[in-house]
Amino acid sequence: MRNAVFLDRDGLINRQAAPHHYISTPEDFEILPGVPEAIKRLNDAGFLVIVVTNQRGVARGMLTMEQVETVHQYLQSELAKHGAHIDAIYVCPHADGECTCRKPNIGLFLMAEKEFDIDKSQSWMVGDSDTDVEAGKRYGVLSILTNSLPQAANMILAG
Ligand SMILES: [Mg+2]
Ligand SMILES: [Zn+2]
Repeated sequence: MRNAVFLDRDGLINRQAAPHHYISTPEDFEILPGVPEAIKRLNDAGFLVIVVTNQRGVARGMLTMEQVETVHQYLQSELAKHGAHIDAIYVCPHADGECTCRKPNIGLFLMAEKEFDIDKSQSWMVGDSDTDVEAGKRYGVLSILTNSLPQAANMILAG
């Protein structure tokens, strides 16, 4: 069994897009200060690092899943420069009320469980929205509401 840290994406890993804007290219994707280092610390401590992100711009036709994938490849390549990596990224491309995976639903977490043997009792959810905390609560892991991943990593690694 592995301990996992589930991370929100927008507003935690990268700067939040302006209202009604969607991040569709690597140029729009600005990684926040200290994030690669924080992810590396979680990697080194043996945590699975798993991103769970709502991207309803896909349902709205504002961006494609291919663009989302391209942005995520860019993220992984930037992390690799710091010796860090994300183990898996799960995306909800649906609109509100259309699915069981849009946070605060827990479908993305259940997808992760199919791939990884996760010890929920030692796992965390970190995000900058109430919906992130609610999702973590519903899934049954400890949750941290913050827009600072370095600070959240400090808390998690302090045990
Ligand atoms: Mg967010
Ligand atoms: Zn969904």
